[in-house]
Amino acid sequence: MPPSYSTDIVIFGGGVAGLWLLNRLAAAGYRTILLERGALGGGQSIHAQGIIHGGLKYALHGAFSGASRAIADMPSRWRECISGSGEIDLSACKLSSPHLYLWSGEGLGGGMKAFLGSKAVAGGTEVAAEMEIPGFLRGRGLVYRLPDFVVDTHSLIRALAQGHAGRIFALGSDGTENTLTFERTGGHRELRVQGAEGSLRIKARRYIFCAGEGNRALSEQAGLTTPRCQSRPLKMVSVTGAALPETFLHVLGSGLSATPRLTMTSHRDANDIPVWYLGGDLAETGVERADDRQLEVARAMLAELLPDAVLDELEWRCLDINRAEPASPGGRRPDNASLCAEQDVIVAWPVKLALVPVLADLVMRKLLDDGIGPGNAGGSQVDDSGQLASVFPRSPAFARPFWN
Ligand SMILES: Cc1cc2nc3c(=O)[nH]c(=O)nc-3n(C[C@H](O)[C@H](O)[C@H](O)COP(=O)(O)OP(=O)(O)OC[C@H]3O[C@@H](n4cnc5c(N)ncnc54)[C@H](O)[C@@H]3O)c2cc1C
Repeated sequence: MPPSYSTDIVIFGGGVAGLWLLNRLAAAGYRTILLERGALGGGQSIHAQGIIHGGLKYALHGAFSGASRAIADMPSRWRECISGSGEIDLSACKLSSPHLYLWSGEGLGGGMKAFLGSKAVAGGTEVAAEMEIPGFLRGRGLVYRLPDFVVDTHSLIRALAQGHAGRIFALGSDGTENTLTFERTGGHRELRVQGAEGSLRIKARRYIFCAGEGNRALSEQAGLTTPRCQSRPLKMVSVTGAALPETFLHVLGSGLSATPRLTMTSHRDANDIPVWYLGGDLAETGVERADDRQLEVARAMLAELLPDAVLDELEWRCLDINRAEPASPGGRRPDNASLCAEQDVIVAWPVKLALVPVLADLVMRKLLDDGIGPGNAGGSQVDDSGQLASVFPRSPAFARPFWN
């Protein structure tokens, strides 16, 4: 019989959701380990645009929806963490931009103007001063400054992993994956891990799946009858060029469309060259287009914004990526973070990077409702470092953005 290791919680998946939860659980005194199959952040998290939304994007549906209400508190909650005074310490996370801007083209309609000034979206939305907007937009209609801001996802993932080296483990080493199986006795599971150097039985009081698209396969492996998952695809575009000015902007289409025509965020590649990362409607509708066609459409959109000379010098790339979510009627975007619990497993989805704090609240509440308090791991306790290292000899690497 292989040796046994007992802990309170095993988290699967080291994206922002799993790592945020690890921080909350560890701070509350839960004995927790996190297992990552690939690189930390390597699912959706490193590829997110990093926008901590304040709800206006969702209010663009024309009504102050459930989604906009759920997300409205997020900027202040994240800002506290980044200032070092929040529920977790994100003082090592870099802000890419303290604000996100919104431009509705040169002919701002009266309806849109009234909407932006309305009570529902008034919290912190103001007309931006000329100085703060990129040169190519000056004199081309009103630009609004939103309460949303933008984080650098690379430094966010590092900040979340900081101080948890003894809790985060890579599944597999040197390209060989460990074999993981869930063995069930009644409503309880035990994880059997077979590594290159040995094997281990891991008993946890709760297994929490924060594996994004991997939640589906993990749920099957664990023998769950729920949850139902959905994937909503995007075809993002990145543009690299030395002359690209820093831009954090929603470009609205005509009317009160729910999705901005284009959402632009600025980043830097490994050689410190500016990168524009393009999402919004371009990425949603782009899934129907071949890469070449998607790049043509993106180029035509940018041609409306920038002089030709800048466009000639750019390097273009596409990224096909799915948003992993719980199934929602009609395949629509779910309004809020949510979880699904079955026996000793919790399957968790933040739905948005911005909503990860809400997801962590839901999990913490669920644990307490189930009578799972911190520090009560039962069973034989073995030496963590030795036993875990025999099956998990390595820490996962950090993911890098696709344009690198
Ligand atoms: C292109 C794009 C842009 C986005 N932009 C924004 C934005 O600007 N603002 C915003 O709020 N939201 C944004 N989102 C949504 C946001 O990125 C996601 O909601 C969030 O990152 C999900 O985090 P996660 O940790 O749940 O999942 P992921 O980041 O996908 O992490 C899952 C992790 O689990 C690991 N894993 C998978 N299977 C297993 C397994 N069997 N065992 C162990 N580990 C496993 C994966 O390797 C991965 O590291 C964007 C999403 C996309 C795709």
